[in-house]
Amino acid sequence: MRALVTGLTASLALAGAATAQTPAAWTTPTAPFQLADNLYYVGTEGLSSFLITTPQGHILIDGAMPTSAKDIEASITSLGFKPSDVKILLNSHAHFDHAGGLAELKRDTGAKLAASAADRGALETGTYPGSEDVKAFDFPPVKVDRVLNDGDQVTLGGATLTAHITPGHSAGCTTWTFPLTILGQKHEAVLYCSTSVAANRLVSKAKGPQYPGIVEDYRKAFAKLKTLKADVFLAPHGEQFGMEAKRAKLASGAPSPFVDRGELTRAIAQSEAAFDTQLAKQQKAAQ
Ligand SMILES: [Zn+2]
Repeated sequence: MRALVTGLTASLALAGAATAQTPAAWTTPTAPFQLADNLYYVGTEGLSSFLITTPQGHILIDGAMPTSAKDIEASITSLGFKPSDVKILLNSHAHFDHAGGLAELKRDTGAKLAASAADRGALETGTYPGSEDVKAFDFPPVKVDRVLNDGDQVTLGGATLTAHITPGHSAGCTTWTFPLTILGQKHEAVLYCSTSVAANRLVSKAKGPQYPGIVEDYRKAFAKLKTLKADVFLAPHGEQFGMEAKRAKLASGAPSPFVDRGELTRAIAQSEAAFDTQLAKQQKAAQ
């Protein structure tokens, strides 16, 4: 419970004031580590970036902050891989703390970016739709090479990831599912996009909702996420999936602390309750 509440509070604190400092952990480098047989954590202390390696090149998911690209590349290199072998870039959602480094990563690696149709505009303009006036939310724009719709798959060198559009947090918020193995054992991984309310206006008299239909979109996302099965639950913020605590336990060996079949269900239930609270609060404020 605590982890998700903390994540939401951090996001809200950020959203509250455009001038607010982002949490230090978001820009603090951390040692990369192997999470599964071909999956590595290469993000910062607080913001995830995942590397999926294959014999035909690699897939990198999320670019953290605008200043994070070089840290992510250094992590890839320190694991013994080459940034120039990254062929495909993916994104959970088009916010500055997860898409900020993508433009530089794309330039440096030469990889192609595949992203959802509904997040394409935000990525290509580097803005937060509905909050274009908040300059603190801007990030370097990045061109989308392949537009994805719900259920589309991305494949490379034997790895296949499926895009599930779980909208609300951003209009094209994309939850990724993919099989992986840990010590040779097969598992299903879900990289959850996020369903926190964060900076989003669900209801607002003065400015209107963040985008039309946002509340219905969150409902769709919760419904969709409840249909997914996860042995391994991953998320864009380390605190959303207990990354630090699990990493600390990795050293003690099998079974992997990252395998937890109940975690997705618990996370979604908590997030939906937090959403209902936030919605009621915003509705009351709008009266
Ligand atoms: Zn976000």
